[in-house]
Amino acid sequence: MGTKNKIGRLSIAKANVNLMPRWGASALFEPETKLKKNSSNPGLASLTLRKKLVDRLRKRGIVDDTVLNAIGSVERHQFVDSALASMAYEDLALPIGFKQTISQPFVVARTISIVIELLSKNKPKDDLAQLNILEVGCGSGYQAAVMSECFGQVTSVERIHPLYEKALKNCEEYISKRKLSLYFWDGKSGFKDGAPYDAIFFSASLEKFPDELIEQVKDGGVVLAPTGVNLQYLLAGIKDSSLNNSFSINSYDVVSYVPLRKGLDRF
Ligand code: SAH
Repeated sequence: MGTKNKIGRLSIAKANVNLMPRWGASALFEPETKLKKNSSNPGLASLTLRKKLVDRLRKRGIVDDTVLNAIGSVERHQFVDSALASMAYEDLALPIGFKQTISQPFVVARTISIVIELLSKNKPKDDLAQLNILEVGCGSGYQAAVMSECFGQVTSVERIHPLYEKALKNCEEYISKRKLSLYFWDGKSGFKDGAPYDAIFFSASLEKFPDELIEQVKDGGVVLAPTGVNLQYLLAGIKDSSLNNSFSINSYDVVSYVPLRKGLDRF
């Protein structure tokens, strides 16, 4: 199974260079807005902050309403430590423990937008609610929750047990809607039980594009993977059965994800 490289940029959004800070590298700023202390209605405060976040993402070139509505509906402060809640609606990756980070909202929005754009070349957009998605690297569960608001069925796997357990709690509401399933699993080779997928999102970076996952993706389906050793590019491979069942690859932004690791950690 080869990879046909068709490197190019799509024009779905202004492709801002997207640098997701690694754990510990993101704290040199003053939050513009803070959750009101002792607010009698924290939900309302978070709604206002979520709207501001959505406006900021729109200004950065995110145009897909499904994605913006999903970001606007998920309470990101529920996915971080209470000490970081005041920073939850900043467009930043934040530490979640075990040297991992919750995904930056722009990265979440950008990656979902890319996949929706690529998938809608083959399918009408109304079919989003039918799509079957895998995320490798559940972390806090935030991106999984946002994706479950966009797609039909989302499975997300995590290799660090305490993070998996935290994500289960964070995502309770979304799991109970039966649109999201989480597993304690090493997703390096995907997750065959839920295949075939319309899209697989890697939320941790790989050294090489995962061609071997072709069997777990439907024809026309997409694998999105931050790939590279020193410099990482966000790559999206589209499965094309007419190309000897290989991926046709598009390259997007320069990114900085935490690395994918092998095996399971229980701590
Ligand atoms: N999208 C997540 C953040 C992901 S951070 C969020 O919104 O919170 C990357 C995550 O990938 C980490 O939690 C890390 O433990 C996990 N990870 C790394 N390698 C993995 C593997 N082989 N299988 C499953 N998860 C993995």
